[in-house]
Amino acid sequence: MKKIVILGSTGSIGRQTLEVVDEQQDIEVVGLTANSSIELLEQQIKKYHPTIVAVMNIEKAKELRRRLGDCRTQVLEGMDGLVDVATLTEANVVVTAVVGMIGLRPTVAAIKAGKDIALANKETLVTAGNIIMPMIKAYGVRMLPVDSEHSALFQSMQGERIKQIESVIVTASGGPFRGYSCEQLSEVTLEQALKHPNWSMGAKITIDSSTLVNKGLEVIEAKWLFDLTPDQIQVVVHPQSIIHSLVEYVDGSIIAQMGYPDMKLPIQYALGYPDRLKNNYRRLKLADVGKLTFEEPDRKTFKGLDLAYDAMRAGGSMPIVYNSANEKAVSLFLSRDIAYKQITEMIDKAMSAHDVTECRSVEDVLAIEAWTHEFLKRV
Ligand code: NAD
Ligand code: MG
Repeated sequence: MKKIVILGSTGSIGRQTLEVVDEQQDIEVVGLTANSSIELLEQQIKKYHPTIVAVMNIEKAKELRRRLGDCRTQVLEGMDGLVDVATLTEANVVVTAVVGMIGLRPTVAAIKAGKDIALANKETLVTAGNIIMPMIKAYGVRMLPVDSEHSALFQSMQGERIKQIESVIVTASGGPFRGYSCEQLSEVTLEQALKHPNWSMGAKITIDSSTLVNKGLEVIEAKWLFDLTPDQIQVVVHPQSIIHSLVEYVDGSIIAQMGYPDMKLPIQYALGYPDRLKNNYRRLKLADVGKLTFEEPDRKTFKGLDLAYDAMRAGGSMPIVYNSANEKAVSLFLSRDIAYKQITEMIDKAMSAHDVTECRSVEDVLAIEAWTHEFLKRV
């Protein structure tokens, strides 16, 4: 029996993880967390009976306690609560489905407590990969990718010699604005940016997908997960989202993973690994798809992708600036405080103003995040 904790169970990945649990016999939910959506969390508690839950918002945590009455699930609060859920003794896998760098402390704590990580929360690895990946080794735990592209790469590496990988090819749908000119991007509204052609996801990653910053984050995520150099990571636009990514070996063979676009598949692969578990999800019918197409990303219009390569090549604290500036800019765009094109402009400005330093601790990483947010107040 796998006993799992889901950090961010009320979000898109969190809810789909619970759908995987519904489909499988031998996965038990022992801990859940949410930011503030306590109505949904309450329903989840009543259905899955976890040992503990945590709510980031302290007022909401109090309200949830009142609503639950004398329920046997313990309700914790704040960041300490998240860390306690992430390190729950009886859990063996922690699904990190919170959005943003907020996942950093609980993820690090979970690794130290000997938990395997099913990683959806890419921002954590992008900003602290140099701290987290050595810890994964030191504590002898597994880092199992949930992001569909990284699950595809991981699946395409099974049984192969990692040293014989020449490069990886990360696929991108291109987002809702594929084919747009720079001028057209200036006109983009929040409503348009929130409509992704192939995937239904949380608001932040939907915006990131439209700017190609999500692909940029995924390139850096791939570097850390699979120990690759920037030159080994390519991106190709594949609008149908059927091939989820590919690995090219030294002999020129390319191995890919395909499937109907459904996040439950990579979530389930991470939770079942190394087994493949049966399910009733929609199957891919190639004849129905008809055509698979591929094209180069438009790096001139969508600057977020090359900025990620620049950040990765600069190394040290630069990927933290890339990510933190994006998190800030996207939240400002979501609250209608900036225009669409300012998202990548803000990342560019913050990176241009930043002098790279080495970050050796979570505190160092959070200090760079604070510097970035402070800098952006002044631009
Ligand atoms: P979401 O916005 O739907 O859900 C986020 C979850 O995190 C919610 O449960 C929310 O309560 C919690 N949360 C948000 N802010 C918080 C805070 N300050 N403190 C504590 N908890 C907080 O996001 P999502 O789309 O599920 O994405 C989650 C992560 O998975 C992201 O890192 C994203 O990049 C990654 N991811 C998502 C998808 C997808 O299909 N949605 C695919 C690949 C990777
Ligand atoms: Mg992805």
